[in-house]
Amino acid sequence: DTVSIRRALISVSDKTGLVPFARALADRGVEILSTGGSAKALREAGVPVKEVSDHTGFPEIMDGRVKTLVPQIHGGILGRRDLPEHVAQMQAHNIAPIDLVAVNLYPFEATVAKGAPFEDCVENIDIGGPALIRAAAKNHDFVTVLTDPDQYEEVLAALAGAGGTSLALRRRLAGEAYARTAAYDSAISAWFAGQRGEAFPKRLSIAGSLRQTLRYGENPHQAAAFYATDARPGVATAVQVQGKELSYNNFNDTDAAFECVSEFEAPTIAIIKHATPCGVASAATLAEAWDAAFRCDPVSPYGGIVAVNRVLDAAAAEKIAAIFTEVIIAPDADEAAKAVVARKKNLRLLLTGGMPDPASGGLTFRSLSGGFLAQTRDAGRVGAADVKVVTKRAPTDAELADLLFAFRVCKHVKSNAIVYAKGGATVGVGGGQPNRVDSARIAAWKAEEAAKAAGLPERLTQGSVVASDAFFPFADGLEAAIAAGATAVIQPGGSIRDADVIAAADAAGIAMVFTGMRHFRH
Ligand code: 5GP
Repeated sequence: DTVSIRRALISVSDKTGLVPFARALADRGVEILSTGGSAKALREAGVPVKEVSDHTGFPEIMDGRVKTLVPQIHGGILGRRDLPEHVAQMQAHNIAPIDLVAVNLYPFEATVAKGAPFEDCVENIDIGGPALIRAAAKNHDFVTVLTDPDQYEEVLAALAGAGGTSLALRRRLAGEAYARTAAYDSAISAWFAGQRGEAFPKRLSIAGSLRQTLRYGENPHQAAAFYATDARPGVATAVQVQGKELSYNNFNDTDAAFECVSEFEAPTIAIIKHATPCGVASAATLAEAWDAAFRCDPVSPYGGIVAVNRVLDAAAAEKIAAIFTEVIIAPDADEAAKAVVARKKNLRLLLTGGMPDPASGGLTFRSLSGGFLAQTRDAGRVGAADVKVVTKRAPTDAELADLLFAFRVCKHVKSNAIVYAKGGATVGVGGGQPNRVDSARIAAWKAEEAAKAAGLPERLTQGSVVASDAFFPFADGLEAAIAAGATAVIQPGGSIRDADVIAAADAAGIAMVFTGMRHFRH
């Protein structure tokens, strides 16, 4: 089933690797047909090449809209070499067989990404390229199709080794070819939907590129892989500097940690376990932020994930590496910090090259049996100007700063989420409970345990503020927070019993603000 190559058609927009690839083919005696720009590049490099228009006797017309859409080309790709009728028809119509097709498409996605005008985007919809790719992939029994420069080497290796491509290789390349044309058409379709102002078109396909096959999924009996869908700085853009391969759960937790710290401007650390913050703190330096975040829960961080929102420095790296940490994710790390981390062989260090914009849009997805839910990213952010004081007492400036901090952390805690904070650090986090009182109690209880562990006389929640991701449906959740020592509350408001909740706050003399915005996360 090995097929040798006598004639190749090369038509590429991305000319990466073109010349060495074509030269290697030409050196093996392959006749190379090529379209205008690709042919020019090859001629200039001294690689023998024949223009498609010379081969077919038909010129490129309509500014290149019709270059290869002619029977001599498509017949040469699609003709079956094992059917006498096909072979006879090829001879009758003077159609020469084409055994290899290397095409990459007009850069539609990149044209859209750079914000080009409508007409330029339309002109960058490749027509002949996908037709060539799909034809070659269909006739993979005889034809080898390449759609990406990173496939050149493998095909050249096959030619050098076996003298041709194997059926297994041609089938795999055919499958990859259809993945490429499918992704291309979905990008075009999504762009049209966007032009109509539609976030949710009739058909929505999530096109991702395989970044890594994983050893297993959430559990060892599950298979898993990681696909990147866009260039949002984070786990998808990260370079792993050192450490073991990341697991499925590591990716999930690391993403949660990095998205959490992206909410904050000051130096901030988030320590995460099971996609839930154990402690989050902002401070003057990352090292100080670590101490404050760790104090919130000194038990859970072992085997945790740590995210920072600035260049990791050595002082912070020392503190993080002092306990068993699975992953550190940062926009970057200085050399001294890298040296500190390097002492722990298994500790994974991921550098993303930047921070994501917490206010940026886009869609997020969740799979359900038989489908998926799509929604716009929770880009909602509450600032000082957005809150409404509903109690007799207004929060002090210090309380307000902590309230806003706690509410942002809340967004990253599983609902029902209750977050106590003091001095720019969480002091009690409770979440994932089916009722809000339990989350409030758990957070307060954990804060007491943390105080005991640190030998502090007072529970950490004494004099803290508290945030709730959604409204308190009854006064009981608020009362639990007051009992824990909270002096100010931030919550969306909007319950039919808001009046009861406000009365309970006033009775205790605490300050409460409503955000009008909810941050459920399930
Ligand atoms: P070149 O730079 O060689 O002039 O053009 C290469 C590009 O043309 C490739 O991206 C290929 O997909 C595309 N292409 C090849 N044939 C046709 C055709 O008949 N019509 C259109 N619109 N594009 C084509």
